[in-house]
Amino acid sequence: MYQSTRNPECKASAKQAVLQGIAPDGGLFVDSTLGKEKIDLDRILKQNYLENAAMILESLLDDYLREEIEEAVKNAYSGTFASEDITPLVKVGDHSVLELFHGPTSAFKDVALTLLPQLMSKALAGTGEKVLILTATSGDTGKAALSGFQDVENTGICVFYPHGKVSAIQQKQMASQKGNNVSVTAIEGNFDDAQSEVKRLFLDEDLNKKAAEKGIRLSSANSINIGRLVPQIVYYFEAYKDLVKQGAIQPGQKVVYSVPTGNFGDVLAGYYASLLGLPVEKFLVASNANNVLYDFLSSGTYDRNREFVSTISPSMDILISSNLERLLYYMSGKDEAKIAGWMKDLAEKGSYQVDEKTLENIQELFVPFWSDDDKTRQTIDEVFRETGYVLDPHSAVAYRAAMEYGKPAVVLSTASPYKFSQDVLEALDETESDEWKALKKLSGINPQQVPVNLAELEEAEILHSRVVNRPEMAEVVEEMMEKMG
Ligand SMILES: *Cc1c(COP(=O)(O)O)cnc(C)c1O
Repeated sequence: MYQSTRNPECKASAKQAVLQGIAPDGGLFVDSTLGKEKIDLDRILKQNYLENAAMILESLLDDYLREEIEEAVKNAYSGTFASEDITPLVKVGDHSVLELFHGPTSAFKDVALTLLPQLMSKALAGTGEKVLILTATSGDTGKAALSGFQDVENTGICVFYPHGKVSAIQQKQMASQKGNNVSVTAIEGNFDDAQSEVKRLFLDEDLNKKAAEKGIRLSSANSINIGRLVPQIVYYFEAYKDLVKQGAIQPGQKVVYSVPTGNFGDVLAGYYASLLGLPVEKFLVASNANNVLYDFLSSGTYDRNREFVSTISPSMDILISSNLERLLYYMSGKDEAKIAGWMKDLAEKGSYQVDEKTLENIQELFVPFWSDDDKTRQTIDEVFRETGYVLDPHSAVAYRAAMEYGKPAVVLSTASPYKFSQDVLEALDETESDEWKALKKLSGINPQQVPVNLAELEEAEILHSRVVNRPEMAEVVEEMMEKMG
């Protein structure tokens, strides 16, 4: 059973939580008994990714049947990832890089966004209801969501992105998306315009009435959904399994994980893994120049009142790390009233301060680091010269944290360097002003091949080319509702 971080009476089953996303009181869904039952580590070491994923998900998603989970996992991960290991672990210098970017769109978000739609579809089966996902994207997540929901039963998805404000590759990735239940639209304006209109549409009475008449529920696929969080626990165990297999550690030995962090979902999944029995020494929380988490983990004061910095690791350019609320819930001793108070302070003042005991609990396990763009570029360059391995800017921030911590770590790598070819080339003292040419130029330097989905992209057929003004977004959604039935 799940409940809100802010109120124990606000409850939901796993299926309800997956469909609702956020709790009705604005809190996040958590399982208060998480960690009572441990995952059998010996079994993890013997099983493959799909078996481990099914085992872990089954222990966390109470009202899903074993068969439902097995089928969801199979649909998500069979034949969709470029590596049979799904998330291979590669030795790079003193550290091990956990490559999370071999999914269908070369995004780390693929790991979770291939599985969430399957979990939603299972939760809807037999209810007669359908779900329509509305998403505003600044580039990356939109494609991973489109690909995950493509032709999944009982679901549809509308993605909106700011016209002319995403990269050429991101734009082409979305514009070439196949599927009968997908819609991709550029809007005149910036990302915030797209985002705030999507938020407004969720509350639009007329639209919701029309949706209800068709048995359609409007929903989002954002990273606070437990259906996105839970799949991420799996690769922490997988990395551990691979370290044992490679002879780098003995079973039971504690491991350091370094995580490039934005919304705190990825590193929180690691914490969940540790509650489930994964032997963890420390989590290195690696931020870019938006170092609000560095300050929080150092001082206990979370303060979003600061300048937003645009960096070369844009998926970590975040001032409110939503999933941190879940860590606070567990670290405060599951004190819902405290969480509600801190989140109220955050909403009203933009800051809050946790008590000493909570901070101590957090600091026992989490160590913060941050790198600005210069340090990140240096790291890409240094690691390449010393090992021949090419890191993307997000992964480089985490690799840097591991270097500074000074012990061998598992570094989570969240993007293929080919998705950020121009910035990576620049870090390696090369330049190329055309994105497609940069991709090819980088492939001449990087021993790792260009992922097939990116290599084929330039020639892919454009299927979506509509550009609308903000007031027309509702019509786009209505059209998709018509199509869904
Ligand atoms: C989303 C993302 C992150 C940050 O993950 P969080 O779960 O938001 O902390 C890091 N790197 C890349 C490439 C991402 O897309």
